[in-house]
Amino acid sequence: MRVREVKLYKIAMKLKSPFRTHAGTVHSRESILVEMMDEDGVSGWGEGVAFSSPFYTAETVDTSWHMMRDVFLPDIKNKKLSHPRDIYDSLKPYQGNEMAKAGLEGATWDLYAKQKRVPLSQLIGGVRDSLQTGVVLSLDDNLEELIPHYLEEGYERFKIKVRKGKEREDVESIRKLAPKVSVMFDGNGAYTEEDIPHLASLDDLGLLMIEQPFEAGDFYLHQQLQQLMKTPICLDESITSYHDAYQAIQLGACKIINIKIGRVGGLTEAIQIHDLCVKYNIPIWCGGMLESGVSRAHNIAVASLPGFTIPGDISASSRYWYQDIIIPEVAVKCGIVKVPSKIGIGFDVDRGFLHQVTVDELKVDM
Ligand code: MG
Repeated sequence: MRVREVKLYKIAMKLKSPFRTHAGTVHSRESILVEMMDEDGVSGWGEGVAFSSPFYTAETVDTSWHMMRDVFLPDIKNKKLSHPRDIYDSLKPYQGNEMAKAGLEGATWDLYAKQKRVPLSQLIGGVRDSLQTGVVLSLDDNLEELIPHYLEEGYERFKIKVRKGKEREDVESIRKLAPKVSVMFDGNGAYTEEDIPHLASLDDLGLLMIEQPFEAGDFYLHQQLQQLMKTPICLDESITSYHDAYQAIQLGACKIINIKIGRVGGLTEAIQIHDLCVKYNIPIWCGGMLESGVSRAHNIAVASLPGFTIPGDISASSRYWYQDIIIPEVAVKCGIVKVPSKIGIGFDVDRGFLHQVTVDELKVDM
């Protein structure tokens, strides 16, 4: 693939509105953009989507930076790369650090697609030219104002971050404003075994799914709850690899899987999980990580695969950012995102804006 150099950019982008989860509030989103350039000066882009603190996964921006700089880049330096799969194979033996791996592999995928002069979605077997998207609502949002706006924009799936113990109340407050849309909530691992009867009692709400009620890595409690409920349980944090997905499906621990490219260690692993889910009739959707347009573009490509039958978290750039890092920004029209037909990820990086938001930078000759 003739890689000449790799640049890492630590960026910090201010969020339009702080985003609250059970574990803290995010005001400014740091992440790592990866630029991989070939001998002809063509650049592929990826993003390491770890957060500044380890509230979602163990990785952080700083640990990802360290792994990329001190372990992964030295490993792939001077290696003959003929396909993104070679990066995957090279980094797979290292434990964990999925988001750092995914950032590097993502840049390789974009570069490879550009060298082949095809859109990334087409390269990986995507079948859609547009995607239905869902939206994530925070309880800090002004729902009376936002929900009619989202309905007008055509969103068909609302995901809410509920208050523990007040799920019914929170779901009903959304339903009052939007009776017809599919509603789901994300437990973000905040529940324990004692909560199983309570969660099972929410079955009559007819939710699209309950996402990851129990802690990351758990399969047992999810299996116990799924046996008591018709409502599909969706696994998010528990799925960090193909093997996790295989285990979850065989155990009956979920009926839906949320695939995040960063969380599973990159596009190659994500495609393998996709293929497994298709085989076992497990619907999948693409989750979001409050990420920049670079990741958003990768998410669009993966979500164009045939098994992604549930609207994902691919909302418009303007949902989170005053300005996104890509040109054009991701736009949602009538709840639909277009899969770009340009080569690679289909968006250009806005270098002027990148310069403004970069807080640290590193160049490695390959
Ligand atoms: Mg989640």
